[in-house]
Amino acid sequence: MTASTHVPAKGSLILVTGASGYIASWITLYLLEQGFSVRGTTRTATKGQWMKGMYAARGFDGFEYTVVSDLENEDAFGDAARGVDAIIHTASPFHWNVTTPDDFIKPAVAGTLSALRAASAAQVRRVVITSSYASILENKEPLGEFTFTEDDWNQQSIDEVEAKGTGAWRMHWYRASKTLAERAAWKYVEDNTPPFDVVTICPPYVLGPLIHDVPSPDALNTSAANWYAYLSGQKSADDAIAPAGILCDVRDVARAHVRALLLPEAGGQRFGVATRTFTIQTLLDHVTGNDKLMAAFPDTVRGPPGKPVPPQNWFDCSHSLKVLGIELTHESKTAIDMTESLVEKQKGWSKPV
Ligand code: NAP
Repeated sequence: MTASTHVPAKGSLILVTGASGYIASWITLYLLEQGFSVRGTTRTATKGQWMKGMYAARGFDGFEYTVVSDLENEDAFGDAARGVDAIIHTASPFHWNVTTPDDFIKPAVAGTLSALRAASAAQVRRVVITSSYASILENKEPLGEFTFTEDDWNQQSIDEVEAKGTGAWRMHWYRASKTLAERAAWKYVEDNTPPFDVVTICPPYVLGPLIHDVPSPDALNTSAANWYAYLSGQKSADDAIAPAGILCDVRDVARAHVRALLLPEAGGQRFGVATRTFTIQTLLDHVTGNDKLMAAFPDTVRGPPGKPVPPQNWFDCSHSLKVLGIELTHESKTAIDMTESLVEKQKGWSKPV
């Protein structure tokens, strides 16, 4: 089998799991723009219907949805995958409504394996999985002294969760879930010689505009909720200046998924997509001077502008970006476009129910 047989046929049907999500909604939009049809899984029909309407309003009628509510069901995606040519698996818990590490780990691992089993049964060509830099980076000090690449694995979070259980830092619960899910995917490929190849995408902290359904502020996805907390004055200026993180625009992350689906040579690889180190303050600097945005968010946290980003370890994705051919969005565009999209979302929130 040559590598190119793993690329889905032009215009074919692609399954996107977790299609009502922040990143998945952009992936779906780009697939539709490229002439593919998309079947998305959502947890409720209401979300599926909303997404269908949103794509139709943008001129695309190639989106259908199917409800898959339980990632831990062994055959969760069996029906959903029937007749598709490839799968992009994004569904995985990334929220803080959890009480044990297993609330992250079980659905993350089981959902990934369900997607792969369904891919085998449906004889798809390629599976692209949304992993995370959480499966790569470990906490290492002194900050700023270490560079990670796609060759690295985060064993630290797994060890912390194994040693301390619920006593481990909650971020390690999530990071362990992403590491274990991605490892399970590569092991599945090794053990089963499936008819498809796998590609994983490892984004860092993802920000940028929202096109998915957000009926209220508490329905915001985790990374957008953090930005909104600064726009709505719920966090302090001190929180905005440290610690530094690593940023990528949601549109670049989505483009990376689509490129990974379509590039023959992407099969079997992990790809990172990281723009730069940042603090929330560096992003606030791009919006606090914008009168229109500040009129919509008058309580925005206003810390000291121009404060340099403190040292942070780096995730070097230069190899991935070269292979995928992605040009990264400037952080000013990420901050402004995200805030503009929240201005629009907020108009819906203020309407009486
Ligand atoms: P999101 O909007 O919360 O998307 C997560 C998706 O997974 C949603 O569609 C959600 O369904 C679904 N999901 C979560 N738990 C589920 C469960 N137990 N059963 C069934 N479906 C479930 O967040 P996102 O940021 O787009 O995340 C998408 C993927 O990107 C995740 O794999 C996440 O780990 C990864 N990621 C995110 C970031 C980031 O900064 N945002 C960074 C790196 C990697 P509902 O819509 O019904 O909630």
